[in-house]
Parts: sequence; C-alpha cells; structure tokens
Amino acid sequence: MRVGSGFDVHAFGPGEALMLGGVRVAHAQGVIAHSDGDVLLHALCDALLGAAGLGDIGEHFSDSDPRWRGADSAQFVTQALQWVSAAGWHVINADLTLIASAPRLAPHRARIRERIAGLLAVPVAAVNLKATTTEGLGFLGRGEGIAAQAIVLLDGS
Ligand code: MG
Repeated sequence: MRVGSGFDVHAFGPGEALMLGGVRVAHAQGVIAHSDGDVLLHALCDALLGAAGLGDIGEHFSDSDPRWRGADSAQFVTQALQWVSAAGWHVINADLTLIASAPRLAPHRARIRERIAGLLAVPVAAVNLKATTTEGLGFLGRGEGIAAQAIVLLDGS
C-alpha cells in the first residue's frame, strides 16, 4: 500500500463561480488560475501522483503550458489515475479537506463526493470530503483565497 498527500491554494479573483471537485459552485468571486483553478482536484491530483511516486501536478501540467489554459482539472485527475493504474496501483480511498472562509461546502458536498468518486472509479463511500475554516486567521481567514488538502491511499492491483 502507498499513501500520498496533496495541497493547493488559489487566490480569489474576478468571477462569479468556482470549480470545486469538478462541480461548478456559484460564488461572488472566481479564482486566479491558469487552468480552471479547482483546488480540490489539484490537491487530489498531487495526492495520486505522490502516492505512486510520480512527481507533482506542476511537473506534468505546467501552468506555463498553453495547452492547460482554462483546462478542466478533471482531465488532470483522469490522466494521473491512468498513470497510477499503469504503475500497478488502484485507489482504496481519498480524504479531502477544503479550507476556506467561503463558500460553504455543505450544500455541494454530496455532488462533489459523487463527482470525485466517479473520476477515481471508486464507490462514493471511498471518498470523504471535509471543510474547515482558519477561524479568521491568515490569508484564508481574510477571504483572500481558498485551499485544499487531499490524502489518497493506493493498493497494488
Ligand atoms: Mg492549483
């Protein structure tokens, strides 16, 4: 078995929605990003790559590569999962944490879990999604951006 972790941050910017775990969530702001700026999927992608010893998201999907401008981050997860599978691993479970003052995760949690489970080809019960704030502290507490953490466990196929 192998474990991997991922962490991602994006600053809020102009916009009216965020992509969170592959789900569009209406919000008073968007995020500044080269791709769609989906912090949950970016952290998940890094956790997958990390568990399999395959590097990180920036190495494979550079934010200076025009191919990934405005990219749907679901394709990063799908590609990372293909590499993980090719290396002889499959996902046991994923545990993700959204760290933000806003938006609230609760109304979207079920849809996001389902979407992530679909991307990982695992049952919904194998994907857990948590949310926390930083109690008003730091850049996340000031509402300057949004962060996510992910942990993935793999087993040999
Ligand atoms: Mg990112």
